Amino acid sequence: MTDQTDVDDDSTRDENRLVRRDFLKGVGTATAVGASGLSLADELAEMTNLQVVDDPIGSYPYRDWEDLYREEWDWDDKARSTHSVNCTGSCSWQVYTRNGQVWREEQAGDYPRFDETTPDPNPRGCQKGACFSDYVNADQRVTHPLRRTGERGEGKWKRVSWDEALTEIAEEVVDTVQAEEYDAISGFTPIPAMSPVSFASGSRLVNLLGGVSHSFYDWYSDLPPGQPITWGTQTDNAESSDWYNADYIIAWGSNVNVTRIPDAKYFLEAGYNGTKRVGIFTDYSQTAVHCDEWIGPEPGSDTALALGMARTIVDEGLYDEEHLKEQTDMPLLVREDTGKFLRASEVAGLDVDADRPEKVFVMQDAEGNLHTAPGSLGERDGQHDHSVSIELDFDPDLAVERDVETIADGPVSTRSVWLNLRDELAEYDPETVNEITGVGRQTHQEVAREFAEVERAKIIHGKGVNDWYHNDLGNRAIQLLVTLTGNLGRQGTGLDHYVGQEKIWTYKGWQQLSFPTGSVRGVPTTLWTYYHAGIMENTDPDTAAKIREAVEKDWMPLYPSERDDGSRPDPSVMFVWRGNYFNQAKGNVAVEEELWPKLDLVVDVNFRMDSTALNSDIVLPTASHYEKHDLSETDMHSYVHPFTPAVEPLGESKTDWQIFRELAAKIQEVAEDRGVEPVEDRKFDREIDLQSVHDDYVRDWIDDEEGGVAEDRAAAEFILEHSEESNPEGSDEQLTFDDIEEQPRRLLEAGDHWTSDIEEGEPYTPWQDYVQEKNPWPTFTGRQQYYIDHDWFLELGEQLPTHKDAPVLQEKSDYPLGYNTPHSRWSIHSTWRDSSKMLRLQRGEPTVYLNPQDAEERGIEDGDTVRVYNDLDSVEVMAKIYPSGEPGTARHFFSWERFQYPDRKNFNSLVPMYMKPTQLVQYPEDTGEHLHFFPNYWGPTGVNSDVRVEVEKVADGTSTRTAAEVVQRDPSSLGEDALDDALGADDESSASGPLDQVRDLIGGDN
Ligand code: SF4
Repeated sequence: MTDQTDVDDDSTRDENRLVRRDFLKGVGTATAVGASGLSLADELAEMTNLQVVDDPIGSYPYRDWEDLYREEWDWDDKARSTHSVNCTGSCSWQVYTRNGQVWREEQAGDYPRFDETTPDPNPRGCQKGACFSDYVNADQRVTHPLRRTGERGEGKWKRVSWDEALTEIAEEVVDTVQAEEYDAISGFTPIPAMSPVSFASGSRLVNLLGGVSHSFYDWYSDLPPGQPITWGTQTDNAESSDWYNADYIIAWGSNVNVTRIPDAKYFLEAGYNGTKRVGIFTDYSQTAVHCDEWIGPEPGSDTALALGMARTIVDEGLYDEEHLKEQTDMPLLVREDTGKFLRASEVAGLDVDADRPEKVFVMQDAEGNLHTAPGSLGERDGQHDHSVSIELDFDPDLAVERDVETIADGPVSTRSVWLNLRDELAEYDPETVNEITGVGRQTHQEVAREFAEVERAKIIHGKGVNDWYHNDLGNRAIQLLVTLTGNLGRQGTGLDHYVGQEKIWTYKGWQQLSFPTGSVRGVPTTLWTYYHAGIMENTDPDTAAKIREAVEKDWMPLYPSERDDGSRPDPSVMFVWRGNYFNQAKGNVAVEEELWPKLDLVVDVNFRMDSTALNSDIVLPTASHYEKHDLSETDMHSYVHPFTPAVEPLGESKTDWQIFRELAAKIQEVAEDRGVEPVEDRKFDREIDLQSVHDDYVRDWIDDEEGGVAEDRAAAEFILEHSEESNPEGSDEQLTFDDIEEQPRRLLEAGDHWTSDIEEGEPYTPWQDYVQEKNPWPTFTGRQQYYIDHDWFLELGEQLPTHKDAPVLQEKSDYPLGYNTPHSRWSIHSTWRDSSKMLRLQRGEPTVYLNPQDAEERGIEDGDTVRVYNDLDSVEVMAKIYPSGEPGTARHFFSWERFQYPDRKNFNSLVPMYMKPTQLVQYPEDTGEHLHFFPNYWGPTGVNSDVRVEVEKVADGTSTRTAAEVVQRDPSSLGEDALDDALGADDESSASGPLDQVRDLIGGDN
């Protein structure tokens, strides 16, 4: 590889690009003529007379036309890489090159095996990854910097030089920082684990500028808020090979056969190991097909189903009493008058050995004596203090109901959490559960019994539960099942939540690379979007008041911050890279109409023209996944492996690291020219010095080495060197980039931010620090906490998990169908949505799946063009009749790009924004050790479900789309001539829109 920092001249780049595409076209030509030199027609005639080979292994004739297939396996060189798309797969691939071009990819298949008792980890991969090579030279590639010349989204672009693009951006950034509006600069990029160097590239610059780093995991509704609420932790999961160790698995809203393709083998093979697999899906999904039992509850009724199952476990005495006493808040006493936990500081005569007795909780033993609960926050120094233990030296009662003499209020009535929980569960008798969920009275009870009675039971929890407004209640109710049965902290147990590739094993190295100043302006993207898209103005008064209170109390940060005069500026500059914010935004209509116009400059760093790129001001072309150095990690396995460049970045594109480094250099240059003085940060004890921003960008801040992280590979090595997982303290062993380029390597240790160690010979399984080591859980009580005595939880009746109906934004009478936007089989989010190969495996255009009964009632037939609409907007798509789907749901698999719809709306045009107050809190209210805002760990989640629509047939059911619109859905499926025909090449009025961008990309200059 050559260093792309040195800018080639344009002609060389164009030649390079032409060579790549001509080479690929040349392959097609050779295919048509045939290696034999015969015409295709001659060859086809010859093939019809093919001699049957009876014994192909014993004797096989040489036939020259078959060389075509043999040549597919020829290559000149290969490189190891993977895909950065938040698929959670993190699969290592070999990428083959021939004549300097990417030729094809193949699953690497060399993950070292560490456990002979579980299936071989090899190979890993999916059908999308298997055709990423198509993207490397695709028409969708952005090959040179573009500046928009028309309105945003209009599709009018001008090719500009790197210097022009970077200068324009740098001038805007310098102006913004000089005006002390640095917190109006936003950086949005998701999921570091999928490519931490690329994540850090822009985050590092934004951090040096004093800008705002956006959360993503909560925004995408991937975060299960029930986990920080109950377990004090974002998530921690077993790697997928541990599924094989379970006796019983419930796949709850997790369509593993579609969304976890590289790992589905463990789910399938567990069946041969005797594991019973139950699927809980509203539709008869592709995973339900492979389960022993399928339960199809009403959409959004997961909480009631889980609580009904919990009731069975409790009523029938199938719970793990020891686990509940030691590991949970069930024995803790709660005051009946206030609903608050009884605190040790309140109890007359109770001996308390703790610095903060008001944060110590109380239990009763079998003799009726009161005790302080070991591990309470009041006797710990912060959330993660492991110097105290939760181990009990007395036997607490679970079922306690008694008066306690308090210092301030005299005798007060108290009841244990256990009894409060039993009261709550009493609401979920089989009849009620059946009414709410539609699941049979016996069915859910039998599954609950089976789950409780096996030795090792596990729940695989998917996004199907997280998309609802009351997702936190759903999470907590499902978590309750593994807690009640003591299925935590052992192999083959647990609640494994796999939604998004959130686990960055090498956490500390990544963190130090991404945020070198250590002073980070993180913002919950859901709140930022909600506020700046003007949705607050249409919010019910109670919710709006709670949002304001959470911001005023600094429970949730909102940027730009409020100024001394009480004003709050609008955001003004936004960088997006590795993500498709504009396409994926809930409240899409408000984002487009209210938020987007506030931004003076939107810069998208992208290798393809997606919806965010199309709606940006400047698009900077970045390297594809086969053209750069980076790392890849996931919670599905405990390996780390790399991206390495198989070829140079196409055209003028550069790697993310190069782009932001060169932007830093340009900002520094502009600042030096203007003599810009350092700016005092209004929040942190630091100065923002634009005259040193590039030098600071490339400096290794830990070893204080100038230029130490100037290159991508050095940045990747920085992460490996400064993370305990790859470079454990006090060990001779260390993982280097060379090591992982040779072969994926299992991480050496789990750092102190994980909840178990990595043990040789067995899959990683979480929660052992608490369940086996008896360290306090990182919660207020030091235990798994199902009772939350925060004022807002009490006010809203959510102190315990409980089933609640969703808030109503659209009346069922107006919009009778629920609207659901699950993950697709043929794309990873919006990546591959525009891939010809993947489009050919489905309908090739946005499609809504309807139950036959719903379709018939509306006179809709398979293939009809229909309008899906609600009070927000409407989109036109094709109808697919889906007998596996439940009546009453319109299922629109996400996430098609805007340019694939007529009028350039999209699946999110129908989705409003919600804000759940309980997800804005700090807990305890005064100090927040248990719940406090931390990007992606605790903050309000976006909501995709709880949306209603109606569907109607368009006109006579035939498509109203023009040829051009059809082409828009798959621009790369047609050649340039067909594109021109469809558009009317001479028609000036058609020279706008996404197709022109496609033509720009094909044809070069505007
Ligand atoms: S897209 Fe993801 S799951 Fe598919 S092969 Fe690539 S890394 Fe694996």
